Amino acid sequence: MAGKPRGCLGGNPSNQAAAHLLGGLVGQCETDEFMSVETWGKVREALQDQLGPQAFNNWIVPLNLERVESGIAHFNAPTRFAANWVQRHYGERIQGLWGDHGSLIDRVVFGHDSTSLRPAQITKPALATETVSGERELPSLPLQANLTFDSFVVGKPNELANAAARRVAEGGEVSFNPLFFYSGVGLGKTHLMHAIGHEVKAKRPNARVLFLTAEQFMNRFVQALRFKDMHSFKELFRSVDLLMVDDVQFIAGKDSTQEEFFHTFNALVENGKQVVLSADKAPGDIDGLEERIKSRLQCGLAVDLHPADYELRLGILQSKVDLQMARYPNAILHNGVLEFLAQRISSNVRVLEGALNRLFADAGLVGREITLDMVQEILADLLRANERKVTIEEIIRKVAVHYNLRMTDMLSARRARAVARPRQIAMYLSKLLTTKSLPEIGRRFGGRDHTTVIHAVKKVDELKRSDFQIAEDVELLRRMLEA
Ligand code: ADP
Ligand code: MG
Repeated sequence: MAGKPRGCLGGNPSNQAAAHLLGGLVGQCETDEFMSVETWGKVREALQDQLGPQAFNNWIVPLNLERVESGIAHFNAPTRFAANWVQRHYGERIQGLWGDHGSLIDRVVFGHDSTSLRPAQITKPALATETVSGERELPSLPLQANLTFDSFVVGKPNELANAAARRVAEGGEVSFNPLFFYSGVGLGKTHLMHAIGHEVKAKRPNARVLFLTAEQFMNRFVQALRFKDMHSFKELFRSVDLLMVDDVQFIAGKDSTQEEFFHTFNALVENGKQVVLSADKAPGDIDGLEERIKSRLQCGLAVDLHPADYELRLGILQSKVDLQMARYPNAILHNGVLEFLAQRISSNVRVLEGALNRLFADAGLVGREITLDMVQEILADLLRANERKVTIEEIIRKVAVHYNLRMTDMLSARRARAVARPRQIAMYLSKLLTTKSLPEIGRRFGGRDHTTVIHAVKKVDELKRSDFQIAEDVELLRRMLEA
């Protein structure tokens, strides 16, 4: 590669002309047809070694070298698909090998039969396709119709994120830029970005909304570098009103992509255009992200989506059931099924949704009612995978904190009610939330007998019915432990 990418490929259109000129000069040495064929022979040999027989036979053998002209090697592939495939997967490699075995070339181009390429027809991969009207179509990911604010169920864990998303979608004075969502997987970041996109388009049909993943951003950037088309790249990304980039943790550690991302981002924010980003961690916690980017990201609003709690899980299930019922109108859902699922399946909404889909698909196919038994049968693997992994130590610790006791009190022989009651509750929760046996639980509570544990479990069961305060404490602790 000649020089640093940024120095020579920065957004100056005359670079393209320069590149062509250079290509032309390099091309002089390649006009000799014989030499080209010889080079191709060597390149093929190298490819055979590198790719292995299968890929080589599938993709390389069918290629025909047409000519090498003006620094561009033209190949013919049997189909358009093959041409695109080879371009994407092996283009760069072939270009590099050509340089190793013959002389430097500027580009390799794969056409297919009838469209045998002449230089004038060689097009760069489209960053943005021109429509008839001349209006540039954005290479955005399509917004999924069902991912709207209406279908987003709001609860405590995501209410801030939802409010911020709505605020940004409203437009007007931009109050936080960028808006940055972060959370573990399946908690609604992508959903909210789609929702913002829909809302902005509904309110301002002419707004230019560009939504893509950080990986796509990188791919486009690399393509632009490779095809010396940085100018269009920059122009495109700076021309949008709303840029949304999903999963930006992907570009951590990818230095030149980060650099370009940083500039794009600054240019937009400086022009008062809204940027919305998502990642799996808070900006400051993403390893391999440049400090200046981190601090720039922190200038906006970073909101996290917490794991869905029981109420939100139930709410989401209820809203998704309505959709399922529309698809399977004859399905019969028994009472308690949704509660059971909300109780037992993890806080990742995607998993929850998947579980519901499986139930309805199965019930729909075999014409069964959805009962608790059926749920346990069909989702056995999922339920096992989601089994809570609460430890007895954790239970003792949480209960001690709740009642303002020390861990040692919980394990001690003291029988005063202020200590004995919490200890019994902790035993009860240990039985409920872990798979440990009664003797094992007894041992962990300062070497008590299993009959003590049985007694505690019975006692707390009774108290839950008669003493409102205890029922509430137990419920609260259980939720905390399960969260
Ligand atoms: P993330 O991007 O955080 O990994 P997604 O936005 O892809 O998560 O969400 C995963 C799935 O869960 C999607 O199908 C989405 O529609 C659904 N989902 C997540 N949160 C909610 C919610 N609060 N209400 C309704 N559906 C939700
Ligand atoms: Mg996502």
